[in-house]
Amino acid sequence: MEIRDLCKRQRYAFPDFTGCLSFQPGQGKEYNVFHNPSGSPDDVFTRFQLLADAHIHITRENCRAMLDHMDSLGIDRALLMAFDEESAEVNFDLAREHPQRFLADCNVSSTPFGRLESRLYSYKERGAAGLGEFMVNRRIDDPYIRRVFAICQELELPVTFHMSPEAGYSYGIVDDAGLPLLEDALRRFPRLILIGHSQSFWIEFSADVPHEREGRNSWGCGPVAREGRVFQLMDEYENLWCDLSAGSGSCAIMRDHDRGLDFIHRFSDRLLFATDMTGPDMVFPLHDYLADCLAEGELSQAEADRIFHGNFERLFGKIQRPEQ
Ligand SMILES: [Zn+2]
Repeated sequence: MEIRDLCKRQRYAFPDFTGCLSFQPGQGKEYNVFHNPSGSPDDVFTRFQLLADAHIHITRENCRAMLDHMDSLGIDRALLMAFDEESAEVNFDLAREHPQRFLADCNVSSTPFGRLESRLYSYKERGAAGLGEFMVNRRIDDPYIRRVFAICQELELPVTFHMSPEAGYSYGIVDDAGLPLLEDALRRFPRLILIGHSQSFWIEFSADVPHEREGRNSWGCGPVAREGRVFQLMDEYENLWCDLSAGSGSCAIMRDHDRGLDFIHRFSDRLLFATDMTGPDMVFPLHDYLADCLAEGELSQAEADRIFHGNFERLFGKIQRPEQ
């Protein structure tokens, strides 16, 4: 199956597939399936002692199927993303029912400004691992967004965000090209861990960023001529992390083999393996790509360990292989 077709199957993770295939690396190899952990003895999964997914969406209805899917992919533990307060409640239920497998992120979307503090405190008390994915469709310097960031900083709740290029255009917190508002937030809230995700964030992997909203809301593709703002912000702000999920994250890493590896070498202590899967029919090609980089000596074991579970454990606590 062509990677194009697989991408189309990923309804949510790859919602705006534009036909750009340039992230498919050379050698004619397709990175389109996870290796089966019960496969051959030299399967790459044997090199990953543990595998954590820092961005997944699961409902009550598909929980059993998703657990089976996680088993087949070798994912030991997953951080459940919430779209809003309602799905945060589902996350808490699922994490309580499957404490070995899930951690729950909370979220706020409709909580009034004056109740943000009490709401987030109660989420923290109930065991929220973080907040995400945060997608209130306002500019990052909006008082509501800043209030959420300030409280999450105090509560030590890492925030995974989805970014939009424009209010009212697509969901997500809003920044301009070049990410000036994100930089302001990183400076303003130095103890808040912000985890970057989505197209409008990863498009800034390369310096030649389109400025119109459609371009900013797409995956990047093709060689990276010069390092973009994502490199600069990761260099300057220790509180910026990235999840590698979805087409946007995997495309950034895979669109230019050398630049992607350079990014990983420089920032492997703040990168989180993640998929953004929403259903058991989804696959995520970046896993195999990184596994092959490891097998070919382009990625060190220590780097792989950090990305696949170590950084996750540093943020969210120790994990262990679930009992079957
Ligand atoms: Zn998501």
